Amino acid sequence: MHRDAIVIYMPDHGEMCFDGSKTFGRTLEVNTPNEVYQQFEIPFWIWTSPILRKNHPDIVQQIIKAKDRPFMTDNISQLLLYLADISTPYYREEDNLISPCYNIGRKRMLMGTIPYDEYLHKK
Ligand SMILES: [Zn+2]
Repeated sequence: MHRDAIVIYMPDHGEMCFDGSKTFGRTLEVNTPNEVYQQFEIPFWIWTSPILRKNHPDIVQQIIKAKDRPFMTDNISQLLLYLADISTPYYREEDNLISPCYNIGRKRMLMGTIPYDEYLHKK
């Protein structure tokens, strides 16, 4: 890679794979914390090109600092607006994962009604 580049990998959902469950695939039902975890917890990767790492070490540091922050994919647009340097009144810094102002206390809701972290006993 000879250009500034950032690649973000983010699936839209997980799949049950018999990891302690009696089934596979997706039910999108809230039956057990294990089944919810398999369906809703997803990998999220950000890769940067060597040139970007050299030209923008500040962005790389912001990404590294954010690696363990709780996140929901509904705010991916805020990260993309920031990385693409797009100015819009729709940008909300507190919802940008790599901003120092990111709101790590935002309640992550499952199916709009169930507090995700509490249900999975993460809090
Ligand atoms: Zn899908």
